[in-house]
Amino acid sequence: MSILVIAEIDSHGIKAATRSAITAAGQLGGDVHLLLTGSGLEGIALQAKSIKGLSKILLADSAEYAHGIAENLTPLLVKLAPGYSTVLAAATSFGKNLLPRAAALLDAAMVSEVTQIIGERTFVRPIYAGNLNATVAVPPGLALITVRPTVFEAAAETGGDAAVEAIAATGELGKTQFISRELAVSDRPELATAKVVISGGRSLGSKEIFHDTLAPLAAQLGAAIGATRAAVDSGMAPNDAQVGQTGTVIAPDLYIAFGVSGAAQHVGGIKDAKVIVAVNHDAEAPIFKVADYGLVADLFDVVPELTAALKQ
Ligand code: FAD
Repeated sequence: MSILVIAEIDSHGIKAATRSAITAAGQLGGDVHLLLTGSGLEGIALQAKSIKGLSKILLADSAEYAHGIAENLTPLLVKLAPGYSTVLAAATSFGKNLLPRAAALLDAAMVSEVTQIIGERTFVRPIYAGNLNATVAVPPGLALITVRPTVFEAAAETGGDAAVEAIAATGELGKTQFISRELAVSDRPELATAKVVISGGRSLGSKEIFHDTLAPLAAQLGAAIGATRAAVDSGMAPNDAQVGQTGTVIAPDLYIAFGVSGAAQHVGGIKDAKVIVAVNHDAEAPIFKVADYGLVADLFDVVPELTAALKQ
């Protein structure tokens, strides 16, 4: 049976995380189809067609899918999923919001945050904030899985020539109404895919200090800015900056943590970073246990010094 990948889109088209899910789907063996939902999708459908590894695009182009509302997308998924052995999406907010709803309604197996595909029915996923890996097997029948995009390389944007099939929409569910969307506009790289990420914790003290301290360094390094949950909860950084178990899991080449204690839930989100640097004035801070390089110092001395040195 074939595998269905659920596409996540933004104004630029299909997100890189979806292309990572396509790579994961390819490892399961079998034809890979992509479900593309939204409104006014002509351009994006053309883009999807040429992604390598897909044999068919199911195009659900209708007003009720315009804003990616999970309530409206779930009936469509419930209708389509039984025709597939596995349904996949990237483990982003979008995928994590949608797939469990369909799995519950279909009484099908749901496996979240898969980091390795061992076989058609056997997967590895992190548990206990990434401190252990569990190998899980699903019973025969439909399985829905979300895959961690940072561990699967994104499928190439070109080289494919999938067939496009328009499918009927399932209609407005009427339970949720789209009101507005606030988009964070930034010329910095996206947190989930940035090669360099710098982050700050509660110790930065306020929204203004958080920004004024970290933004100049991020600009010098071409880095994305992340934050701990404590920094997000206290309003210093936006929600989408949260790194960790309940935020974004990242795998940059370089991660620099300023004034971050290194709680298990934060560390669970940075384990795949190639090099971790920590600056903390407490030599006993747990972040030093996972850091490749550690500096016991005050971040308010280190950040300006580093920024100035990089400018030279
Ligand atoms: P603190 O723990 O207050 O640490 C501040 C650190 O800054 C200390 O180590 C201190 O020594 C250092 N410091 C202070 N001043 C300076 C200075 N001037 N210079 C240098 N160092 C300084 N957290 C996440 O980050 N991501 C998650 O996804 C997440 N998910 C969670 C899920 C659950 C279910 C729960 C219960 C918690 C979760 N948390 C998460 C919260 C987590 O447990 C910690 O509370 C949080 O990460 C701590 O943030 P912090 O390091 O900014 O703050």
